[in-house]
Order: sequence, then structure tokens, then C-alpha cells
Amino acid sequence: MKNSELISYAINSLENAYAPYSEFKVGAALLCENGNVYTGCNVENASFSATNCAERTAFFKAISEGERAFKKIAVVAFKNGKINEYISPCGVCRQVMAEFCTDDFEIVLAKSTSDYVTYKLSDLLPNSFSSKNLGE
Ligand SMILES: [Zn+2]
Repeated sequence: MKNSELISYAINSLENAYAPYSEFKVGAALLCENGNVYTGCNVENASFSATNCAERTAFFKAISEGERAFKKIAVVAFKNGKINEYISPCGVCRQVMAEFCTDDFEIVLAKSTSDYVTYKLSDLLPNSFSSKNLGE
């Protein structure tokens, strides 16, 4: 799947964001190795720590449907009425990605379907903590 198509899914998922407190709406679209796509939006809460990011929403939807192999994720954010900057996943979402993805998992940060930058997970979370560190 082309990045532009995956970004379209992420932009569409923005519509469902629940962000009454920050008005910072985020959409994500996660592509599985088998071609399935799971979208996610941020879901805020009056008790702020209960908020869930768009990226984790997409991952948890996919995981709960039995998916375990992931290729890439596209992320877009809507602030002040438009998508005007590349928004990088927070540390918690990066750690969730590290649980299920290899270092070469691709993260696509987009302003539009044609304006985006890509990173590898290892770029955004080098020397990550993982199950390897827990040993046997
Ligand atoms: Zn996050």
C-alpha cells in the first residue's frame, strides 16, 4: 500500500477523535503485514491520564483482532483548524510499537497525502527496552 493511501485512512480517522479538552485531534492508520488496516483516533478523558493516543488505539484494535505483524503506521494531527505540522508519536506509543514491531517498522508523519516524512522505529526509539532485556 502506498503511503498516500495509508495517510488517507489516518486523515479520515481524525473525524472520530474525541478531544474536547485539547482540541488537538490525531488520526492514525496501521498497516499489517497481511494488508489489513486498522485506524485509530485519540480519545481524551476529563481524568487526563485516562486519555489514549490515536496510535495506541490503532494498535490495540489490531492486537485485539489477533494481528501481530505490522508494516507501518501513518499519523496526522489537526490543530487550530488544520493539519500544519508533522506530529511524532509520544514515548508511550513508541514503547507500544517496540513491543510488537521490529526496528525497521516505518512511521509516516504526514501533513497531507503528498507531504510526509518517514522514520524507522529505531530512529525514534533507539536502544529501546524490550522483552529481550527481561531475559529467560
Ligand atoms: Zn501516544
